[in-house]
Amino acid sequence: MKIVLATRNAGKITELRRILTGFDIVGLEEFPSIGEVAETGVTFEENALLKAHAVAQGSGLPAVADDSGLCVDVLNGMPGVFSARWSGRHGDDQANLGLLLAQISDVPADKLTAHFACAAALALPSGESRVVEGTLAGHLVTTPRGTNGFGYDPILVPEGETRTAAELSADEKDAISHRGRAFRALAPIVRDLITR
Ligand code: IMP
Repeated sequence: MKIVLATRNAGKITELRRILTGFDIVGLEEFPSIGEVAETGVTFEENALLKAHAVAQGSGLPAVADDSGLCVDVLNGMPGVFSARWSGRHGDDQANLGLLLAQISDVPADKLTAHFACAAALALPSGESRVVEGTLAGHLVTTPRGTNGFGYDPILVPEGETRTAAELSADEKDAISHRGRAFRALAPIVRDLITR
């Protein structure tokens, strides 16, 4: 059974293929007529559902979508859904990280708690849908460390770790990450809904 993952990010497709075995997971490149879905939601769940519904309608196939970001407690949960465009330039990881570091530079280390969050949604062409969330809690460091990963990984130290997420291997990060947790929680729901 084919499932469309609403992304052009090859890394996310590989990750979902590892978790959702037995399904033929394809990316948006197979559906060039489906354009960018505007992320107009104000929560991760809303954005994941928006994307999953748009792609299920556009492809006529079950669609999975995710939306994720970093929530910093002293910033009342921001950058949150604005994580990818925090500096004003969508997808500019360096600028986004730089602005966040400037904002938290005077905050005492013990107040720098934060978590990554990821909502993963499944939508069927019938309009039926489900959404689940996964989180990875930790604290921020103000000097970036590590070269693996992306985005805010170099400043988030997961709970129980001394390394930043950018110092973990891909497998180590997958095992504890917000996205890994959300996709793993969604997998049985996908199996149930699609094979019933
Ligand atoms: P999206 O879910 O692909 O829209 O990504 C949202 C943004 O959140 C990314 O551009 C990153 O800035 C941030 N983000 C989400 N997940 C991670 C992660 O695992 N590590 C670091 N940054 C992340």
